[in-house]
Amino acid sequence: MSLQQVTVLGATGSIGLSTLDVLARHPESYQVHALTGHSRIELLAELCVRHRPVCAVVGVSEQADWLQARLQRDGLATRVLWGAQALCEVAADPRSDTVMAAIVGAAGLEPTLAAVMAGKRVLLANKEALVMGGALFMQAVREHDALLLPIDSEHNAIFQCMPPTTHAGLARAGVRRILLTASGGPFRDWPLEQLATVTPEQACAHPNWSMGRKISVDSATMMNKGLELIEACWLFDATPDQVEVLVHPQSVIHSLVDYVDGSVLAQLGNPDMRTPIAHALAWPERIDSGVSPLDLLAVSRLDFRAPDPERFPCLDLARQAMHAGGTACAVLNAANEVAVEAFLQQRIGFVEIAELNAAVLNSLPAEPVTDLHQVLDADRRSRQSARDWLGRHH
Ligand code: NAD
Ligand code: MG
Repeated sequence: MSLQQVTVLGATGSIGLSTLDVLARHPESYQVHALTGHSRIELLAELCVRHRPVCAVVGVSEQADWLQARLQRDGLATRVLWGAQALCEVAADPRSDTVMAAIVGAAGLEPTLAAVMAGKRVLLANKEALVMGGALFMQAVREHDALLLPIDSEHNAIFQCMPPTTHAGLARAGVRRILLTASGGPFRDWPLEQLATVTPEQACAHPNWSMGRKISVDSATMMNKGLELIEACWLFDATPDQVEVLVHPQSVIHSLVDYVDGSVLAQLGNPDMRTPIAHALAWPERIDSGVSPLDLLAVSRLDFRAPDPERFPCLDLARQAMHAGGTACAVLNAANEVAVEAFLQQRIGFVEIAELNAAVLNSLPAEPVTDLHQVLDADRRSRQSARDWLGRHH
């Protein structure tokens, strides 16, 4: 294998750091081309010193000045850029082969799309980008001949269990349905009436995975599984009715594919994101990820149950948005980003996340999408509507 040049968007986050951990295990195969970070700039500086990228991107000019001076002092030639435009330029830089899209939320849409339009091998962790602009995103993948590899553990599992091509729909591939597993988050067994008392800290303490705060809250409300349902529909050309969600508390089976002949294929592993990251980096080959072998005797049992719609209303909202199509998923995603932020700032309670999401989704009718501006505009209108809701309720 020749040396692959890898850009990591969101290098200072949970997925970014896991990616750099895997890359560092294989210096003969991968070189870090660019790193980006929006906060924790000291950490970004350390990562630059360790991985010596050609460029680094930060959010604002003051951060760039500080980082450039710091790296120069350490004798690094890394060029530091800043701002949203620079993120897109770096994502599309012809000198890189692979882009890990690991920015959280809508901020990742344009850089991820820039990587797709440059025909890169795109490792997609940033599910919100696909949820917002699914149709445009997948069209760009086809038009620009990008290779889109899912990092979300469930979608990576499904990808591994799928036949090579599903573009003509699941039925042609002999697939009956996709079984999307969910841990159920930290509150799957809490009494319903106690959910109102949940604190940000409790919501961010996931039983099986260590992740960024936004996705941790999404896992607790199961909006994460809702976003993943939408993500699965786009990635595998499925309808929402072909994707069934299954609560599986151990997070050992990362998802399954059910074929018409009765075969059910699953991918199993320890809950560690370095497995899907290593899979997508090396695909179709395999490389060591640093993840310890799965000890099934220690796991000993695998449990399954249906998700409770009363406990997890966000899951149905995602199904509703996917059925509505057009701008609906972008609206739901943006409302949820505002709601999660408000919850983390202790401005609203845990159960109000779903209430806000439902109110905004139902107040903005779905409109058709033919270009990116409509998606970005829906995102803006949804955030405004969410802020209005916050103003009315608090
Ligand atoms: P995180 O919060 O740990 O990291 C987010 C990264 O994005 C950081 O590098 C941050 O600096 C950067 N960022 C934040 N806001 C930005 C902005 N406005 N502009 C540019 N950069 C910005 O998040 P994470 O847990 O690593 O998740 C990243 C993405 O991967 C999310 O979309 C998440 O849903 C997805 N994902 C994460 C996991 C996981 O285990 N952490 C699993 C599956 C999918
Ligand atoms: Mg996931």
